Amino acid sequence: MKKLLALLLGIAMLLSFTACFDDWDDDDYDDYGDNGDDDYSYDEGNADSAESFINKIKSDYSIILQDNGNYLSSSRGRHYMNEIEHALSLFSPAFIKKLVTEVAEFGDDIYLILDVSETGEETGLIEWDDNGLIISLYYERDPEDCGIDVATLAHELGHAVHFIIEEFIGEEQSEIEITAFNGSFSYVGDTYDFDWDEAIHATTFAYDYGMSEYYEDISTIFEYLASKPDEMYTRFIDPNNEPLLLKTQYIREITYMYISSDCFLLFAPLYNAEEYLR
Ligand SMILES: [Zn+2]
Repeated sequence: MKKLLALLLGIAMLLSFTACFDDWDDDDYDDYGDNGDDDYSYDEGNADSAESFINKIKSDYSIILQDNGNYLSSSRGRHYMNEIEHALSLFSPAFIKKLVTEVAEFGDDIYLILDVSETGEETGLIEWDDNGLIISLYYERDPEDCGIDVATLAHELGHAVHFIIEEFIGEEQSEIEITAFNGSFSYVGDTYDFDWDEAIHATTFAYDYGMSEYYEDISTIFEYLASKPDEMYTRFIDPNNEPLLLKTQYIREITYMYISSDCFLLFAPLYNAEEYLR
């Protein structure tokens, strides 16, 4: 029953989406397309602004943000707030709230935790444990390699979206359908003996990490749509990269169908490419 409802809802949303997309123009996209500092009302390095940001994320997105390392109050606090809100706003408040609702079906909340990683090597992680669906963004020693950024948050949200889609389609079926776009390629696991520069990478995957395993294949596409929209657009309009275009179109379709079509801004590089190719 839930599946049928979701399907009907998906169709209704696709219909309403068509109207909504007509009103959307490149200027809207440009606001999100660069990584420059946006105008932001939060002060730097201030516990009050950190607290008001945490409250805003709760009210706009229904996500519980925990700043374990007090990074939001640091001198780079405003930068981190921009990165977090940039990623969430590409998915959109309505979409994230729908995702939270889906996770709530399992009795859980979504937490976004800012912390240091145990290994000191990861930038982000998503786990579904007894406490809820936990997305961790890790602060690393090097600010250049810090996971409190658009790319890492979009990547982990991509995993969350995929978890929910699997609940509807089933793990096996979703893997069959998505890996079909990769032709005869099989994931290489953690091996670093693999030649990452092999031609298939650019034609079929967002970047090499997506070739390691099926879950990363999908998440790296969400990550690059959010963090490298211009690069994705350029690759989509190249006919050689049709497998990547088709795979991303399919991911968009199931995301809309099983969660919500409110995240159309995230898929802007794809829409722009489709417009160009038309
Ligand atoms: Zn991942």
